[in-house]
Amino acid sequence: MTKADVKNDLLTKDEKYVWHSMKPYKPEDTMVAKSAKGSWITDVEGNRYLDAMSGLWCVNIGYGREELAQAAFEQMKELSYMPMTQSHVSAIQLGEKINQLLGDDYVIFFSNSGSEANEAAFKMVRQYHQQKGDYYRTKFISRYRAYHGNSTSSLAATGQAQRKYKYEPLGPGFLHVAPPDEYRNDHSEKDQWGAQDIDRVMTWEHSESIAGVIMEPIITGGGVIVPPEQYMKEVKAVCERHGALMIVDEVICGFGRTGKPFGFMNYDVKPDIITMAKGITSAYLPLSATAVKREVYEAFCGSEPYDFFRHINTFGGHPAACAVALKNIEIMEKENLFDRSRALGEAARNELRHRLGAHKYVGDIRGKGLLMGIELVEDKETKEPLEVSKVNQVIGYCKDQGILIGKNGMTVAGYNNVLTLSPPLTIEEEDMQLLLNTLVDALHQL
Ligand code: PMP
Repeated sequence: MTKADVKNDLLTKDEKYVWHSMKPYKPEDTMVAKSAKGSWITDVEGNRYLDAMSGLWCVNIGYGREELAQAAFEQMKELSYMPMTQSHVSAIQLGEKINQLLGDDYVIFFSNSGSEANEAAFKMVRQYHQQKGDYYRTKFISRYRAYHGNSTSSLAATGQAQRKYKYEPLGPGFLHVAPPDEYRNDHSEKDQWGAQDIDRVMTWEHSESIAGVIMEPIITGGGVIVPPEQYMKEVKAVCERHGALMIVDEVICGFGRTGKPFGFMNYDVKPDIITMAKGITSAYLPLSATAVKREVYEAFCGSEPYDFFRHINTFGGHPAACAVALKNIEIMEKENLFDRSRALGEAARNELRHRLGAHKYVGDIRGKGLLMGIELVEDKETKEPLEVSKVNQVIGYCKDQGILIGKNGMTVAGYNNVLTLSPPLTIEEEDMQLLLNTLVDALHQL
């Protein structure tokens, strides 16, 4: 069989047996991956692609690191499973390591995915308030355009109606406010979209009914929205004034993506709860965590029969996943990847601004670390989003050149006009240059 025959055979079976995510199935659009190393994926035909999205923003240390496979192997031989009703060495060590990275006193609850980490956070916050005798604090506030997961409450927290409307009713009690989009919102109207808006919603909804706020430091899935410098700090102050807790969703922003161990560290704020996934293992194995400030955790340590957190998952804190996470973080620290992300990202944005700033379709170039969004518009004055066929042309050109980039946005309901880049933090400098050159060429082709 030729390589093309092998691919066609696999695609025929793929179409028959495998249900794919998020788009109508088109064999011609489907890559059947065979292997990957560093930032590069090879498909079954031998074509190579530079993965400028790190999969789903998650392969932070790049593909094919044998140390991680070895860590999983050693752990599975030693202890292949232990539920977190008990404990085990790798979970304890990982809890300590995450605490060191957070630089404060947090207690860590392990799950398997970002959605589950957020679900756990919502349940913890509601129970926390009950335990304190605050029985009416049940509502959460999040932002339009943000994504927080696929389960019924994390999807309820998500601010993207197109993902939600066919699955409603979702978990009740989730309210949304405008995102802090400095490119599209007018600064003179900041009280409509800044922390002041959250303050007003909390007051109108009645402070004593608000459990908490959930936010990513930088909204990733809804257009890479970098907030004003003071925004998170102001929101935290609003939360404190109203007695609400702040959950920070670090599922994408964590583990060096924004040039710091965690995204909130760019904004001088101390969240009450931090959720993390993806980069925690660089996606070598599924794992997530909900880190809870000790004062919050202590509310669960009372002596009443149901003071404890009545929440369990079979695989959360799996020994192999914890061992892989520890090795992954060790590599990040050894290779100085947080600083590398900051420096490479900053240089890339400067170069893109220099080379594309005047391009008629480039409205805004933004990001932090190796998290980047390039907002494309038809007209720089009106900021009308670029027509979808042109956005797809840019992505298609890059793919034809062997470079995988992403898009999202939701600037106008369901409209994705923001190109996204989120390469491995280990991307070689020459590959970064190839990525930037290809992107510039793609835009000049329009
Ligand atoms: N929060 C954010 C910010 C995310 O981007 C995602 C997934 N892309 C999730 C939560 C959900 O994570 P998972 O897909 O692992 O459930």
